[in-house]
Amino acid sequence: MSRILDYEQVLEKLDFISNVGPIKVEQDLATTKFNLPIKYYTAGNGSLDIVISGATHGQEIITTDFVLKLMEDIVNNESKWNLILNEFKLHFIPMLNPEGYLITSSAVRTKIPRDIPIDLEEKLCEEYYLACKKDSLEEDNNDPKNHSLFFDKVDYTCIDEKYNSLRENVKSILDKYPDLPKNCLYMWSANGSGIDLQANSEFNPVISRIMENEEVFMSTKRFDNIMMSHPGPINCPLDKEVGFKTEIETKTISSLLESLHKKGSLYAYLNYHSTGSIIFNRPAEVPKELDVSEEEQLKKELVNYMFAKVYSDKTYKNNGINKYGIDLRETSKYKIITNKSKATSSNDIFRLLYNQNILVELSALGGNPIAPFCNIDNLYNNIIDSNLDAVNHTLKVSSLAKKISEEFYEKVKDLPDYDYEEVVRLEDIIYEEFNKKILELENKGKTR
Ligand SMILES: [Zn+2]
Repeated sequence: MSRILDYEQVLEKLDFISNVGPIKVEQDLATTKFNLPIKYYTAGNGSLDIVISGATHGQEIITTDFVLKLMEDIVNNESKWNLILNEFKLHFIPMLNPEGYLITSSAVRTKIPRDIPIDLEEKLCEEYYLACKKDSLEEDNNDPKNHSLFFDKVDYTCIDEKYNSLRENVKSILDKYPDLPKNCLYMWSANGSGIDLQANSEFNPVISRIMENEEVFMSTKRFDNIMMSHPGPINCPLDKEVGFKTEIETKTISSLLESLHKKGSLYAYLNYHSTGSIIFNRPAEVPKELDVSEEEQLKKELVNYMFAKVYSDKTYKNNGINKYGIDLRETSKYKIITNKSKATSSNDIFRLLYNQNILVELSALGGNPIAPFCNIDNLYNNIIDSNLDAVNHTLKVSSLAKKISEEFYEKVKDLPDYDYEEVVRLEDIIYEEFNKKILELENKGKTR
């Protein structure tokens, strides 16, 4: 049986755990333009809210899989989550972008049917991964791209007729923009209107270039044949014929975060993406239109970094002991990205407005949608297990870590020449001490 879940299998799995154990079904957050529900679940009775979302990008299939696994873990191992569910209320959005997920997973099924033997599935996923890797090499000028040849049988008819309005709209995008490869549905990160929800931010600098009729292409070598200045599979922020508009899905996540923030109960947002095994946490530069003071920004930087530290500590890419006796989990933790950047994406803005927002890129491998499934025993299980552990650990200890980082902020805020990199290195040292204490406490608990 295929380990990759298509859209309908995700719905079946969600039905199966709905109202089981602590998982409560809430009313759908919204219905998309092409009539798909944005499903919404909660767990826990705590007074602090944590939002957890997958599939902002439709082709990042493993993110929805992970949110489902997290919900299942809460059902199956309730005792492990009890304390957390007393302190927090978890809000799950397994597919923020159901249209994109449906398009991509329908395309995947043309090559990988539900009943495929698992070893064959792994082999095909690896083949696709290697094709993607080849396409990233400077010397490779294959046209069509190698990864595109892998999905050569895909066209809009892979979308079931049951979803006719979505299917027809995807067809109309492909007809209208003949520069798009006809089979590009397998890499559909956007929603059914061809708008990418992460790029769909009024602060995205590409918008002005698009409005001036520039033809903007993706810069990564693998996708440099894809134009993002008109609707399509990747990175287009708006349809210039309509003008800028916030998409239903972007509005949905914005309003949920804003309403919880207004209540004063928004504690954190865990936003799952799929490529790189890295964690974005640093708030971007504040655009002048936003009302965020320098002090607030500073505090967010320190609190958010500590939150990312706690999370990354339990993540790992590789498992086991190498021949020198070194624990590979210790040496392959997810990297915390601290680069300075401009606020361009919808999530950059959420991070500026609200506390404790990390964007976790789950898989070390590139090659969405299917490469993360090329090695279930090691790669895939490491992703799922280590991130389940990371969520559990983070929610157990982060209240304490938050207090410490807030106190640290009080100590350093008036430093005459505050330097971000230096200050977070100091925070690393504080974190190490904090973590030592936590481990001591945990070990004490175990021997009791
Ligand atoms: Zn993404």
